[in-house]
Amino acid sequence: MTDYIPERIIVDQAVMDEPFTQNLLGKFSNLPCEIVENYAWHKNENNPDPVKNPLTEGKKTLHLKYFPGNSIKSCPGITTGAVCCNYFTLDLVENCPLECSYCILQAFLNKPVITVHANLAEILDQVRQRIASQPQRLFRVGTGEHSDSLALDPVLEINQHIIPFFGKLENAILELKTKSNSVDHLLNLPHNGKTIIAWSLNPVNIIEQEEHKTASLHERLEAACKASKAGYKVAFHFDPMIYYADWENGYTQLVHQLLEAIPVHNIAWISLGTLRYIPKLKALVEERFPKSTIFLGEFIQGEDGKMRYLKKIRQRMFQTVRQEIHALAPQVTTYLCMEKAPVWQQTMPFHPQTNDELDHILSNNFQQQFSCSF
Ligand code: SF4
Repeated sequence: MTDYIPERIIVDQAVMDEPFTQNLLGKFSNLPCEIVENYAWHKNENNPDPVKNPLTEGKKTLHLKYFPGNSIKSCPGITTGAVCCNYFTLDLVENCPLECSYCILQAFLNKPVITVHANLAEILDQVRQRIASQPQRLFRVGTGEHSDSLALDPVLEINQHIIPFFGKLENAILELKTKSNSVDHLLNLPHNGKTIIAWSLNPVNIIEQEEHKTASLHERLEAACKASKAGYKVAFHFDPMIYYADWENGYTQLVHQLLEAIPVHNIAWISLGTLRYIPKLKALVEERFPKSTIFLGEFIQGEDGKMRYLKKIRQRMFQTVRQEIHALAPQVTTYLCMEKAPVWQQTMPFHPQTNDELDHILSNNFQQQFSCSF
């Protein structure tokens, strides 16, 4: 994996006195730092269009900002008509130092710098209140919506605060989704069994061709082993699965590599999802990653506006991978991401019709598997 090193820091005045800001500025006292009233990135700031250049200067800037809004939100999947698992997202960082060709952030974020919400204590207080407002439900919360959850951690050290915080909450679990192998600094934290570290996986050839700057498959599995030995529950996301000539062998082999490397009793879940993208991403990827082959194949546009493989292809991919997982580790919970009820019916052993039903199944399975109640 390529280490991320920032080259300049911009700090909004409003977060200048935050302990997080002071810590970061102390650590990078050699870097140029600009304190501004309220930073707004302008397109012509660094070069003609840094968004489009994979080696851009954009991501080398860290912007520490005051985030005034609500940081804990329902996952956007909830509004798409798919059966969604009622997941919550916690926005702490916007943008990612890794460079997956298919990354939706390229088309979604309106600035190329890496933005960190530095009013951490206030944000965590919001989380505490939101979770306490519904003591009967189990909140599953992830920080990997607008960035990789761990890739920036060697620089930001955010999870050293977040993991112990979740360790003390009664009815919530934290999921850190990553394609990195940055776990060494987390191994001795008081996670109290409330943090799941989750790796997004793809066959080696897809990682090498499409997931630039990320940890290799071997490094990800090695990191998952370490986390598992340190008592963390682990999870895996076969997402986005990519359709290519030898996909069946590639994903079957990947299931074997995973289940041979990781103790099955520590796997909280494995999700499955195929490539989906908003149409405007295609031109950006073709310009930034001309060797990418992710758009080979037939796609259709769904009601949510996103392009997906044909239903029969998605179903075959889900069936193949789920059956392989079931054959080797029948006790592991699998579920689909961003798919409607008819696709579940063709591919999965259980068929939730609503978001609440899927939420209930995942929460119950989790509590039974790890003998915990919230
Ligand atoms: S790891 Fe996730 S957020 Fe980062 S570039 Fe890849 S897809 Fe985007």
